[in-house]
Amino acid sequence: MTEPQQDLQALVDAARAEIAACSSIEDLETIRVRLLGKKGEITEQLKSLGAMPADVRKSAGAKINEAKNALSTALDERRAVLEAQKLADQLASDAVDVTLPGRGQSTGGLHPVTRVRRRIEQIFRNAGFTIEDGPEIEDEWHNFEALNIPANHPARAMHDTFYFPDGRLLRTHTSPVQIRAMKDRKPPFRVIAPGRVYRCDSDMTHTPMFHQVEGLVVDEGITFANLKAVLHGFMKSLFEKDVKMRLRPSYFPFTEPSAEVDISCVSCGGTGCRVCKNTGWVEVAGCGVVHPNVLRAVGVDPERYTGYAFGMGIDRLTMLRYNVNDIRLYFENDLRFLKQFA
Ligand SMILES: [Zn+2]
Repeated sequence: MTEPQQDLQALVDAARAEIAACSSIEDLETIRVRLLGKKGEITEQLKSLGAMPADVRKSAGAKINEAKNALSTALDERRAVLEAQKLADQLASDAVDVTLPGRGQSTGGLHPVTRVRRRIEQIFRNAGFTIEDGPEIEDEWHNFEALNIPANHPARAMHDTFYFPDGRLLRTHTSPVQIRAMKDRKPPFRVIAPGRVYRCDSDMTHTPMFHQVEGLVVDEGITFANLKAVLHGFMKSLFEKDVKMRLRPSYFPFTEPSAEVDISCVSCGGTGCRVCKNTGWVEVAGCGVVHPNVLRAVGVDPERYTGYAFGMGIDRLTMLRYNVNDIRLYFENDLRFLKQFA
């Protein structure tokens, strides 16, 4: 009766070797089923006990159970090792090396025209102005008539207007915003209106779309002296220089008297250079005292109220501030150009 026990021992030894060599949890499960499953090799041995004579059954049963327990333990131990290994592998493959240098996300920057526009807004906000916005598609009344430019006025031809078939137009200046601002409210007004405007024009210093900022102050007792002080203070703040300013008589339909505003060249300081065409001065704005007809058009009494208005090209101010000589560079969106301002 020693033979089955030798077989059993051989089976246990072979199984142990196989378990020890097993390298995956799936293979280990296959081995477990083959040994200890319902029709497993050890299970079959236990079933065979019933056919044994009673005297050997007890000791044979004990030996088979012992083998079963030994293999079961060996399987559990191997399983624990393999699971630990699997976890370690996973941790290693998922690991992030926090000491590696970053991949370098390049950050965007504001467009130079936007930077200058925001700066202008900040300076005027500090001076007590509010920011107004208006539509870019306008009608002739807001863009021309209310600004004292009637249909046959020669100034209309100067504006190179883009018209829509229905007679509406792309606003040629931000001045209609001052009409809208005054129309629904009562003085005093103290507003600026920055925004895009459109004219059919394109060369080194003109683009069909460009940016203007319009300023308007209406109150009792407002004079040209207020206008000059505010504009000069603004120019010094914008260019962060003690620039000189001069006013030259000019003509605009919506202001009377009117003036062009020059400042001492920010590039050469007034000694003469290419930017100022060797004059030492650069033109930066137009301005004047609001024409009584404009006040009347929006229902403001010109006998009681006076005001001043000014308009500046934001792109032009940006060119001067950053010393750029071709306005078209701002709208080509070449990143090599734009990156210089980030
Ligand atoms: Zn100059």
